Amino acid sequence: MGHVGIIGGGVTGLAAALSLSKMGSDITIFERDDTPMPSSPDEAFKWDRRGAPQVRHSHALLGRLHNLLRDFHPEVLNMLIDVGATEINLAKHMPATLDDLSPHPNDKDLFMIAARRTTFEWVLRQAVAENPNVTIHTGRGVNGLLTEEETLPVVKGVQFDDGSSSFFDLVVAANGRRSQAPKWLKAAGVQLPEEVENTGIIYYSRFFRLPKGPELPFGDRLVAGDLGYLKYGVFWGDNRTFSITLTTSDTDKTFWGIRNPDTFDAVVGNIPAAAEWLTLGAEPITKVHSMSGLLNRRRTLIGPDGAIIKGFHMIGDALICTNPLYGRGCSTGFWQAHLLAEIISSNPNDSFTQAKEFDSAIQKHVIPWYEASVESDRANLKVGTDSDSNDDGAIRKSILRDGLIPATQTSAKVWRAFMRMMNMLETPKILLEPDLSAIVMETWGKRHERDAEPPLGPNRSEMLEQLQIIDLN
Ligand SMILES: Cc1cc2nc3c(=O)[nH]c(=O)nc-3n(C[C@H](O)[C@H](O)[C@H](O)COP(=O)(O)OP(=O)(O)OC[C@H]3O[C@@H](n4cnc5c(N)ncnc54)[C@H](O)[C@@H]3O)c2cc1C
Repeated sequence: MGHVGIIGGGVTGLAAALSLSKMGSDITIFERDDTPMPSSPDEAFKWDRRGAPQVRHSHALLGRLHNLLRDFHPEVLNMLIDVGATEINLAKHMPATLDDLSPHPNDKDLFMIAARRTTFEWVLRQAVAENPNVTIHTGRGVNGLLTEEETLPVVKGVQFDDGSSSFFDLVVAANGRRSQAPKWLKAAGVQLPEEVENTGIIYYSRFFRLPKGPELPFGDRLVAGDLGYLKYGVFWGDNRTFSITLTTSDTDKTFWGIRNPDTFDAVVGNIPAAAEWLTLGAEPITKVHSMSGLLNRRRTLIGPDGAIIKGFHMIGDALICTNPLYGRGCSTGFWQAHLLAEIISSNPNDSFTQAKEFDSAIQKHVIPWYEASVESDRANLKVGTDSDSNDDGAIRKSILRDGLIPATQTSAKVWRAFMRMMNMLETPKILLEPDLSAIVMETWGKRHERDAEPPLGPNRSEMLEQLQIIDLN
């Protein structure tokens, strides 16, 4: 393909460089953050990644990402394990209450990676940097595209913050959710079509480390739940680290105090499944990081007549980003990079066809996840609180809580489908297939016959009372 310039050295830019360089292209990555290569996971954790502030938050690294590494870049998976990450074999965490505990051939795909996002990105950068045909420039920001006008604008290179420029055969923007690409394209006379929806949440994350001795309390359930007014999750990291994330509505000022570490820990202390992780002498290793303004957004470089620009692609969060709650960003970013590299390699000198084929691949593989995120967020925004109103959103939530979740604890078929869906190994609609939804609905139908599940945590007023904070809603 000649020489490809990649804007952004986050997960997706590095993933594109990894795949494209193996296919023989010369690659130059420009990363604005001035981040020399760290020498250990803990040094990487201190990285000044202000261009990707989400690295300070919990990251689930799903089966889709694990399997892309396993099948195409095993050296990266091995390097991750060597530096203290873990492959989580989900089949080993099957609930003992399932109706069939026998192994299934597809379980070989049911693996996640337990690592901090910074550890993952550090390892990925090392693997990429080892390729002789890749050059990584850090502390080098791009602030525009060099274009020429033919029948369509054609990108010929990039312009840097300091006014200098470089020419490339192809430019790929992997510069994240704050990508300035729309502005650059506008300067070339191209309006980038996009659709945006607010996720309606604020994210709060804190990292901890368990001292040597006790084991992390891995059980047979993912530690994640929804209290209605607050969602929580515990994420396994590398090197005895783990993180806890709490999310609340971005309009609920009552919980803004969660940024205070004592309040954060007190909230966690009131949620039994999460509190268990703090009882083994775990020490906090960060303050509480918060992030708002989280969007679902999709863009496309395809208009009614095909590509709207030549010599240019966008991938990762710059193209499509979704609510981080679902933990899919790194997997979809890596997947996009992989798909783009394959398409470039099959159509090396035709960026118009590349764009068309890439868009078809995105529509097939990634957009269903975007749509699922938007649909769930809309339902969540509708229900909002822990009240038991009788609208569609509340019924949907009840089916989830009293049908799907209990069915994942009793039916091996539902557990597997759920785990495969959560890990992006099936389509988001898999659980609507008749044989699976029949089990879920049967379980839901019998909800009044079962002993009520103990609540996941206090309701809103109990939590406020425990924390001694005033309801500002
Ligand atoms: C709070 C939060 C939690 C998340 N949790 C998860 C999770 O659990 N699991 C998961 O898979 N995903 C998660 N994500 C999503 C995930 O972080 C992103 O999807 C992923 O980082 C996207 O990778 P990217 O390479 O496209 O963008 P980024 O990782 O954001 O990288 C973009 C890079 O481009 C650089 N850059 C920007 N502009 C320029 C420029 N002009 N010139 C040069 N460089 C530039 C930036 O410095 C940055 O390094 C989360 C996101 C958030 C916000």
